[in-house]
Amino acid sequence: MNARPEAAAPALDVERIRRDFPLLSRTVHGKPLIYFDNANTGQKPASVIEAVDRHYREHNANVARAVHLLGEEATGAYEGARDAIARFINAPSRDEVILTSGTTQSINLVAYSYALPRLKPGDAIVTTVMEHHANIVPWQLVAERTGATVKAAPIDADGELILEAYLRLLTPEVKLACVAHVSNVLGTVNPVREIGRECRRRGIPLLVDGSQAAPHRPIDVQALGCDFYAITGHKMLAPTGTGALWARREHLMAMPPLFGGGEMIREVRFDGTVFADPPHRFEAGTPNIAGFAGVSAAIDYLQGIGFDRLKAYEQDLLAYATDALERVPGVRIFGRAKEKEPVISFLIEGVHANDMATLLDLQGVAVRSGHHCAHPLMQFFGVPATLRASLAFYNTKAEVDGFIEAIAKVRTLLL
Ligand code: PLP
Repeated sequence: MNARPEAAAPALDVERIRRDFPLLSRTVHGKPLIYFDNANTGQKPASVIEAVDRHYREHNANVARAVHLLGEEATGAYEGARDAIARFINAPSRDEVILTSGTTQSINLVAYSYALPRLKPGDAIVTTVMEHHANIVPWQLVAERTGATVKAAPIDADGELILEAYLRLLTPEVKLACVAHVSNVLGTVNPVREIGRECRRRGIPLLVDGSQAAPHRPIDVQALGCDFYAITGHKMLAPTGTGALWARREHLMAMPPLFGGGEMIREVRFDGTVFADPPHRFEAGTPNIAGFAGVSAAIDYLQGIGFDRLKAYEQDLLAYATDALERVPGVRIFGRAKEKEPVISFLIEGVHANDMATLLDLQGVAVRSGHHCAHPLMQFFGVPATLRASLAFYNTKAEVDGFIEAIAKVRTLLL
């Protein structure tokens, strides 16, 4: 008898997917747009745009304040996004998901509400050389106030974290360990599970910056074994000004609110205000309700594609783009980690990154140039800036070809 082979997941129909993203069909300087700046912010499918539009057209009201129907609908949209995010990252409880404006707010909430009250002179926070400034500067600010220090784990020439060196830094004075799940500059995927395991053995809480992981891979905060996980909506198809912090309940229960105001209290009295329980304790004021309606739609869209298919497609595209770029004379690629998401930082000998990015824009190609909010990483590589092509599942090999052609054209202009 012939055994039937396992049915493989159907390949991604990228042309159909591209039709879901209205912006991808526009032209730039008279050329078809090639959008390779996805690590900066991602484009939005029509379903997300329509969810935001529908909220304002049909459901607009404030959350958790009114008993009228619109108020209930707005609250449903907002709280529905919390449920969707909790499922998306496999949080044990929806009450452990704080809705924020993005990763920057999520990490600062941990810095000021968790770390600041605990730090004392001589304590330390561990981060890495490859972090975005959002996972460095908040720690420096609270360290400065408390006499603690910030230690940065090194990376190697391929842009991989030196795990043994990270673990060596986890000494008893360390009150919090931090790491990016995926580097925004190099695409490097960090060994978060191993770090989580080692942190737990030492009793050190671990914060993971998941900004660049959430658009590319399934997240399971329980399997990762971390204590805090931060995401930002706009890099995973959702509107700007949305994001989340997941934190273990035991930490949230012990954290004072960072902002005071409406909706974060149980009772306000001049002889002693009682705060609401998490998550609302950390959500003072009117949030980005329409944006969170878009977050639910974005998660639906990503899950409709499925991360297995998305990953297979993106990894193939990354290999194709890396191979093509390597053939460009004088190219230097930064970051050759064994496990990478589709982000390629590079320079071309004799060409300034900003000049190249400006001239590529005239060819319709959007890439980012600069330090990518990662000064220490630029210092490590000894360069002031790089070019960064960051890909998404809606990009194509034809676009990669167009990008390489545009580089060749610009190179001859500049050299
Ligand atoms: N962390 C990483 C790794 C990022 O790539 C970014 C954004 O570029 C951030 C944090 C900050 O995210 P946001 O500006 O959305 O708060």
